[in-house]
This record gives sequence, structure tokens and C-alpha cells, in this order.
Amino acid sequence: MKRVILIAYGELTTKKGNRNFFVKTLYENLKAKLQGTPCEITKDLSRMYLTFEEKDQDLILDVINHTFGILTYYFAYQMENDVEEIKKRIVDIMNLEQFQTFKIETKRSNKDFPIPSLEFSRMLGGVVLKNIEGISVDVHHPDVTCFVEIRRDFTYIYTKPMKGIGGYPVGTQPRGMLMLSGGIDSPVAGYLAMKRGILLDAVYFEAIPHTSLEAREKVITLCQKLAKYTSKIRLHIVPFTELQEAIYKNCESSYCITIMRRMMYRIMERLAKKNHAFAIINGESIGQVASQTLTSMKVINEVTCYPVIRPVCCLDKLEIIDLARKIDTYETSILPYEDCCTIFVPKHPVINPNLEAAKKMEESFDYQSMIETLLKNIKTISVTDVKKETFQDLL
Ligand code: ATP
Ligand code: MG
Repeated sequence: MKRVILIAYGELTTKKGNRNFFVKTLYENLKAKLQGTPCEITKDLSRMYLTFEEKDQDLILDVINHTFGILTYYFAYQMENDVEEIKKRIVDIMNLEQFQTFKIETKRSNKDFPIPSLEFSRMLGGVVLKNIEGISVDVHHPDVTCFVEIRRDFTYIYTKPMKGIGGYPVGTQPRGMLMLSGGIDSPVAGYLAMKRGILLDAVYFEAIPHTSLEAREKVITLCQKLAKYTSKIRLHIVPFTELQEAIYKNCESSYCITIMRRMMYRIMERLAKKNHAFAIINGESIGQVASQTLTSMKVINEVTCYPVIRPVCCLDKLEIIDLARKIDTYETSILPYEDCCTIFVPKHPVINPNLEAAKKMEESFDYQSMIETLLKNIKTISVTDVKKETFQDLL
């Protein structure tokens, strides 16, 4: 019997007018991820069908469990729409299960099939009862429900629904620019943004020699881990040293973080424009540090009119850590390499900055031309979830 995974579209089905676009995007995403494998993928209005060889099961599951837009899927057995074959197969399939009570549920979308659903369920129930000892039917609380879907080309039989990761397929929203530091929060923010269908580019601000190449490598690893949820992520590496040093030379130390973050947002906006992105995404969480109080956020946000999406802004750190563990970024994030933000942290950063004061300090040096120079020196690499060696040249 051929093994097939049936994919239910879940939340996608609520997107009436856009449904075809959502389904097509999910289909293309899966196709891209399965390229080079012997799996076949087809779709109709309510299901996607992924046919595979038993030996590739782990690979397929890994792909499914990293693809947004899949709410539920089923490991199914595929067979001809033939009554006798179905009767025979259902016994084989139920023999693999551990149960005492069961129920059969038939869905017959193929109305050419000669037996109505209810009648067919009863008939198959009788066949199972006759062939397996010590079991009984319980239509209310069965140990196992066996689903029989009779569709146009084939019949599918399965028992357990499996949970996918939900969300919308990546690419159903336009691009967003993720500020990716080596910390715990920003990879989680990127994951959650992709979950809503946003295509991601990542941006890393580095301040070599104050930050190390190991810190950069760590960000690339995080990017690779995020890339598992899409096909590839472009990572833009911003040489931030000169501008950051100028900030610390020219501004009051308590305002340095506020101003540094205003500079980051300015650069993010320029990068968003250049890369046809519609939002800035970051891992800010309300109240976590001085620059993330609401008053700080307002002063920092003032430099851009782009939406700044903060997917983890209302989560506790422990909730963010749980997610980081789930998406396998936590262990990388806690590696000890310094980030440009942590290195320059002043002793007493301002918690309620004053906008006019910040603007005045910025006027004291020519940050615009520094931003122009820095924009010309950004390195962009394409990160997939393949092995690290690919990036040795850059490191
Ligand atoms: P994280 O918040 O990811 O754990 P962090 O705590 O070092 O890292 P914060 O100081 O809280 O970072 O900064 C808030 C957000 O600003 C980060 O989540 C990230 O989105 C962005 N950010 C900070 N530093 C950088 C950087 N060097 N490059 C890119 N983005 C950064
Ligand atoms: Mg943080």
C-alpha cells in the first residue's frame, strides 16, 4: 500500500476570496522544500496529498513540522475506490492499532461511489468486527476512530489526526525586515512573524572589533534555524562600528542606547525600502530593558513611519524561552558572544527619554553621511538550512 500524508488546510479555509492564493503558496512552499526527494505532491480544493516511500518518512515529517499553513495532517493508506479492496485493507490497517472499541467514519465526496457513507461505515464496521477478536463498536467514545475518505481518484484510510504547526504559509504576506541579534528574543520574533505568512529578511548590526566573528557566526546559525521554516533568508550584515563609536563620543551616555536604536531604525527603514519590505520586525518586549519602556519606544519609533512589528512584546521572558526551546534556537542564543548592544550599555540608560533632547544630541554629529557610507558596505548573504561550511568564505 502506498503511504500518503493528507494535509488539511485549517485556518486557510477561512480566507474565502484568497483561498486559492493561500493554498497555492503552501503548495509551492512544500514543493520547494521537497525538491530533490522522490516525494510527489498534488492538491485539490480541500486537501493536499503527499505520496512517499516509507524510508523517507522522517524527512517528510521534518518538512511538514517546519511548514506554516498546516493545521492537521493524517498518515493515510491510499487505495483504489473498490469496495472489496477497501474491505480487505481496513482489516489490515485496524490490525496495526491497539484498541478495544472503535468506530468507522466515512466521507464520500465522490458521489459515483455506489454506497452511501453511513451504510458503508456500517458495512466496514461489520467486516472489522468479523475479522478482529475481542473488540466492539462504540460510536460515542471509541478508542480508535477509523476515517475512510472516498475521493475522486482514490480512497484514503487513516486513524490518528496529527497536529501541524498552523499559521499562514510564508509568502502570503510581503517581506518584513527582522532585526536579528544573537539574543533569545529576536529569533522567536522572526518565527512568529513567519507564522503569520511574512517573508523574512534578517538584519544584523555588528561592531567589529568590539564584537567577534563568533558573534556573527552565531547569528548565521540562528538564521539557518529560522530558514528551516521557509526556503531561504537573506541576511544583511551592517557594519555599525563607526556610527556606534560616534554616538558614544558625541552623546550623553544615558541617551546612547536611545540614539543607537533610533539609528538602527533609520537604517532598517532604508533597508526595507531597498528590499521592497513593508515592516520592521524585532524582539522588543515591553519593560524588558530601559529602551523598551513605552516612553522609550515612542521616542525611538519616531524616526520611522514603517510599521514596527514586535511579536514578543507582551510575552514574559519565560514564555519567550519556551518558544525558543521549541524552535531550537535557545541553545545557540545563550552562547556567550557579545552583541553590539550589550558591549556599549551605559551604567544608567534613560528610561523616559525626551525626544527633543535626543534630537539635539543627534544634531551634534553628521550621522546622515555615516549612514550613507554604511549602507554602501552592507554584506548580504543567502542563508538556507544547509550546513555551515557554505559560509566559511565570509567568516
Ligand atoms: P534579544 O532581544 O534577541 O534576546 P537582546 O536582548 O540582545 O537580544 P535587546 O537589547 O533586547 O536585544 O534588543 C531588542 C531587539 O533589538 C532585539 O530583539 C533585536 O530585534 C534588536 N537588536 C538588538 N541588537 C541587535 C543587533 N546587533 N542586530 C540586529 N538587531 C538587534
Ligand atoms: Mg531582548
